[in-house]
Amino acid sequence: MTQERVLTGDRTTGRLHLGHYAGSLQNRVQLQHQYDTFIMLADVQALTTHFDRPELIREHVREVALDYLAVGIDPEHANIFIQSMIPEIAELTVFFSMFVKVNHLRHNPTIKAESRGGSFDELYYGFLGYPISQTADITFCKATIIPVGEDQLPHLESSRYIVRRFNELYGPVFPEPQALLSKFPRLIGLDGNAKMSKSLGNAIALSASSEEIALKVRKAVTDPARIHKNDPGHPERCPIYHYHQAFRADEAAEIHAACEQGTIGCTECKHRITKTLQDLLGPMRERRAAYETKRGFVDEMLQHGTERARGIARHTMEEVREVMGIQYFK
Ligand code: SF4
Repeated sequence: MTQERVLTGDRTTGRLHLGHYAGSLQNRVQLQHQYDTFIMLADVQALTTHFDRPELIREHVREVALDYLAVGIDPEHANIFIQSMIPEIAELTVFFSMFVKVNHLRHNPTIKAESRGGSFDELYYGFLGYPISQTADITFCKATIIPVGEDQLPHLESSRYIVRRFNELYGPVFPEPQALLSKFPRLIGLDGNAKMSKSLGNAIALSASSEEIALKVRKAVTDPARIHKNDPGHPERCPIYHYHQAFRADEAAEIHAACEQGTIGCTECKHRITKTLQDLLGPMRERRAAYETKRGFVDEMLQHGTERARGIARHTMEEVREVMGIQYFK
């Protein structure tokens, strides 16, 4: 293992689904053996969605932690921690906020897209300031490798800018984080129209039962050009093909050709992906069920991971205060 640190995580807004698995979880299972891997349960970020229903956050922290264990993240190799239990992240967010101009945030493409016609009046500050708080998430533990999708690159670019600016202003405390691009950052949803997302109702949860998987795949849209079994299809337009690509890459070329030539029917194609997904998710479901009965184990894992993160955060803040010259009573 190298000493470089990876930071990754999820907003705790509900159970994780296949989109999370393809986009990042699968990768994390490998990364945990290569780097010092920190995985953040982003309960503070989840408040940007559920600020009026905080009771959901606590429950979701646990659900996401169980999903991590289910996919094979091993607390012996990865440090799982709870964001809101690291107050130093909030402290860093405030310090960074002092030298980041609103104009810098307004130019972030993700924020621009949400601002609908350039008006920022209806945006919550937590959303506008997200690039700053993300920088605090990364820097408190001096992570250098950040797994992201292409759409998140502007956020990471902001973080790199903030790190450089801090180091120039006060002293070289933070390393510049680098992106590690995900292969399947946006798995298409069952409706074929958007990114897989629980809130859009087009997702398959990692904890879905065998029956749910079969039903959801059966109802998924396919290429509308394929009315008859031997109509030539356009696999790129079909979510089922994308699932073959993401979860059974060795068969994807064959499915692609058969769909284009009209030599495979959608029913057979769906049966094949259903079997693939059952084989993938079945063992995860079993592991999840086993951990669900071990409440003490999960609590201890989260406490231990959070304490380790907190220790590192305290040390980082000592350095930050030192270079900023705001260490009092010492
Ligand atoms: Fe989609 Fe498969 Fe039907 Fe082609 S054959 S349209 S990839 S379900």
